Amino acid sequence: MSNSVRRITFSDVRSLSPAGTPQTQAAPRAAVASVPLNLVFFGPPGAGKGTQADRFAARHGIPKISTGDMLRKAVQDGTGIGAMVRDTLHRGALVSDDLMISIVGDRLEQSDTANGFVLDGFPRTIPQAATLDALLVDRGGVSVVALVVHADEVIRRLAGRGRDDDEAYVIKERLAVYARETQPVLEYYRRRNAVTILDGNRPPDEVSDAIERAVLQNRMHNRII
Ligand code: ADP
Repeated sequence: MSNSVRRITFSDVRSLSPAGTPQTQAAPRAAVASVPLNLVFFGPPGAGKGTQADRFAARHGIPKISTGDMLRKAVQDGTGIGAMVRDTLHRGALVSDDLMISIVGDRLEQSDTANGFVLDGFPRTIPQAATLDALLVDRGGVSVVALVVHADEVIRRLAGRGRDDDEAYVIKERLAVYARETQPVLEYYRRRNAVTILDGNRPPDEVSDAIERAVLQNRMHNRII
């Protein structure tokens, strides 16, 4: 095994145990160490997945791959892709699956993703999810952390955020698109992949703790592929 593979450390393991009862078994640690941390953070706009993906990625030394950030940067930089997607972003509609799959496929070929990554904003449709599974079939697949947030809390958060596409009518469209195109992706994953559903209404630090615990626990129990 390469030295660059991130190992789950003893302190990771101990932090999950009830106080004073550190777990020292070697076998589960060895089992999880070889599996990359390939994660999808899933949830409606405003669920806090971008914030949580940032934190998780920084903490584990893996890249956060936010398709929304990549597309907004392309628009800002005036690239060809930016020109193609600008209107779509402003309308709150979805960019085509073909373009998104090619953007994310290229990104996942970069070597910094070898030990894992956090995807934020992708997949958003069932074809995107199916293609991602196919791309990662020899790389351990993905597991999913889904944040569930009340609809009124989502609207409150988005209204306070002030991004270009956060005007009321665009928010409405993005939420409708989420319900129609993206929500079914969760059901797709529940049939095939490891999915953890967490309460995203709580304060950010509590959500971060819950994510850390859930991901590590799943890995310890080898429930993540
Ligand atoms: P949100 O706050 O709605 O989760 P994002 O930053 O993830 O927003 O995405 C912003 C916009 O970028 C979306 O409304 C959509 O137009 C486009 N986009 C991002 N990811 C995807 C994707 N996987 N498929 C299609 N369109 C996408």
